[in-house]
Amino acid sequence: MKILLLNPPSQKKILRDYFCSESSKAAYYWPPIDLLVLSGILKSFELKVIDSIIYQYSEEKTLEYITSFSPDWVISLVSAVGWEEEKSFLSSLKENNPNVKIGIIGDIALFEPDICFKVSSIDAIIQNFTSDNISEFLSQVTPSSLYSGIIYRKGDELVRGAMSEQKEFSYPVPQHSLFPLHKYSLPYSRYSPITTVITSTYGCMYKCTFCPSGQIGFGYRNLDNTLEELDYIQKLGIKEIYFRDFSLSAPPSRLIELCRQMIKRDYSFRWSCDAVVSNMNFELLSLMKKAGCYLIFFGIESGQEHELKKVHKPIKDLNSIRQVFNECKKVGIDTLASFILGLPYQTEDDLLETLSFSKEISPTYASFNVFVPRYGTPLRNQLQKEGKMFIETDIDSSEKAFNLTSVSDERLNEIHRRAIREFYMRPSYIWDRFRHVNSFMQLKYLVKNGYSLFQKII
Ligand code: SF4
Repeated sequence: MKILLLNPPSQKKILRDYFCSESSKAAYYWPPIDLLVLSGILKSFELKVIDSIIYQYSEEKTLEYITSFSPDWVISLVSAVGWEEEKSFLSSLKENNPNVKIGIIGDIALFEPDICFKVSSIDAIIQNFTSDNISEFLSQVTPSSLYSGIIYRKGDELVRGAMSEQKEFSYPVPQHSLFPLHKYSLPYSRYSPITTVITSTYGCMYKCTFCPSGQIGFGYRNLDNTLEELDYIQKLGIKEIYFRDFSLSAPPSRLIELCRQMIKRDYSFRWSCDAVVSNMNFELLSLMKKAGCYLIFFGIESGQEHELKKVHKPIKDLNSIRQVFNECKKVGIDTLASFILGLPYQTEDDLLETLSFSKEISPTYASFNVFVPRYGTPLRNQLQKEGKMFIETDIDSSEKAFNLTSVSDERLNEIHRRAIREFYMRPSYIWDRFRHVNSFMQLKYLVKNGYSLFQKII
């Protein structure tokens, strides 16, 4: 049986993940984690990967490649922000290849499967890539059982397997070598051209109201299984990896053990991850540094304590944020802080306080995102109940705002641009960035991403 794993073409550079989708804000683009995991799970099949975004393939070219491979199944990523384009592409795919079965995976498929099944070309949805019965399902000519984490079409009916509730999971090591690793990069790449991503958890143990990750349960990957993949990555000569976990630091005991094992194995690659401020302390940061960590992504969201409480962010207070950012500087780990501008009912002063806090903690990089009520989040559900949310698909936050603040759309966009400008255009910041460049590769990515950001604010 032949299976094709597809990141479908798009006019935009959409990053599609099982829990969330958005456009790349600059020149970076990392490998699609869902397809990577599936490349391990499905390794007993004849497998091909097409990433039409990274190769910038047109719809015609992608269809040509698919037809020439003649797969039995195409498993395609889909996304809430690109759904209109994707559903039309998948319909053309079926028209061109009537015998191919189409399965999809992505945020819209996870949270709104019924919207997806309105498209008749879709045969199945994989809702959870950690399910251990995906291979079994795909190999059935006419499946008839229930498969956890999978919904499929059977005649006019939809057969819905329950979401699996595995606390600990394992899967065969993903085949990173099937992906064009030399083409991917991170927003802060240092060691490209060989970058990949890995995951060691599923979902998030916290439940921030604006974030879909906390709504899909939480499971973690067996540690030996994670290390097996890291050993393989080391053998491939990959220089840089990104743990695509919502929070590698939760629970901290697991991260401590992972770091100890990584130190023992003396890996040569360097890594970055997402973590939660409240899990961090100086000892853990020092251990992470020793294990090869060079950057941590922290979701800070707001410069106001009452706003953090309102969205159930697991951060005690602003002082704990200040402390962790100072400790990262002491230990020598770079930071990326992400902020949300335009949470419902914010005022101009609220927005400006967040901007001012971003400069005060002075992370190595800052990401300012205009609020989007994402699928599956309590905040979106609440807005829908209040009759304030009426669109079927997601808005791409890089393009337009969903605005329930007290400022106009124009003002919100202006503050967004101002935040990027004031953070990145500080002479001391620019000097600091160039002062810390260690390689031509780092300089190249700094200039490329800097240029993309500059285009956004002029
Ligand atoms: S801690 Fe981060 S990943 Fe987890 S629910 Fe909150 S915002 Fe989402």
